[in-house]
Amino acid sequence: MSGWVSQRVAVVSIVLLAVASAGAPTPDSPILPQEARHLWSDGAVVVGGARSVVVGHHAPSGELRELARRADAAGRRVSDVLGRPVRPLIVVPGSAAEAAGLAGLDGAGEVDGLAAVADGGRVIVVPEFFAKLNSTGKDVVLTHELTHVVAGTDRLPVWLYEGFADYVGYRDSGLPVRTAAAELAAEVRSGRLPGELPGPAAFAADGRDPLRLARAYQEAWLACRFLADRFGEGTLVRLYREARSVGVDQALAALGLSAATLTARWRDYVRDQLA
Ligand SMILES: [Zn+2]
Repeated sequence: MSGWVSQRVAVVSIVLLAVASAGAPTPDSPILPQEARHLWSDGAVVVGGARSVVVGHHAPSGELRELARRADAAGRRVSDVLGRPVRPLIVVPGSAAEAAGLAGLDGAGEVDGLAAVADGGRVIVVPEFFAKLNSTGKDVVLTHELTHVVAGTDRLPVWLYEGFADYVGYRDSGLPVRTAAAELAAEVRSGRLPGELPGPAAFAADGRDPLRLARAYQEAWLACRFLADRFGEGTLVRLYREARSVGVDQALAALGLSAATLTARWRDYVRDQLA
């Protein structure tokens, strides 16, 4: 039992740190770490990073500390783009089934293949799939989901909120565009350009066409990357915010773009970047 006891002692001191540094709830972290600790009646382990809090269920604290370091880095990336402080809360359940339950989904099938999901002000890791990612992939996924949590997705077309989350996710990853968008690059090289910005059908993760799903994310990413390259990152961020309040068409019109002109220029950009 000595291993268990010393681990508990370490965990308890970390919990105190996390609570002391976390401060009052804000829209960026609506769940207090004290509440997060009570997600499970047993085996909750809380680890505090510099700005992040990670709560695991029967998870090794070393693993959670690594995740806290990644969450701190993801928080800095999101903060750099959105221009406000971010305090990530990461929840690490014991299984995909538990992750689905926490996210209010029907069962493990709902999170099949997903490495993490954004839900109610927190990022829920799906342990089986998150573990399969390499280090860069883990950072991209955490940053992507944290962007959803902080920037919100309401009232936006799916291409904009998924593309924006990938824009922030890949921004500092060091991955070349042809690597990050490999599936779309293969299509473009064989002479097929996407005809329109990806809609809900393209993102429907039914598992039957994983290549189509991968391309949908890449198409959306390049739409946001185009907007940042052409108009500047600050303009992309403003567009995102304005689209949430006045709708995407009106927000685009402020840049002199219609849905049709954006689509045409995005297609040119996709060809230039990937051909
Ligand atoms: Zn997403």
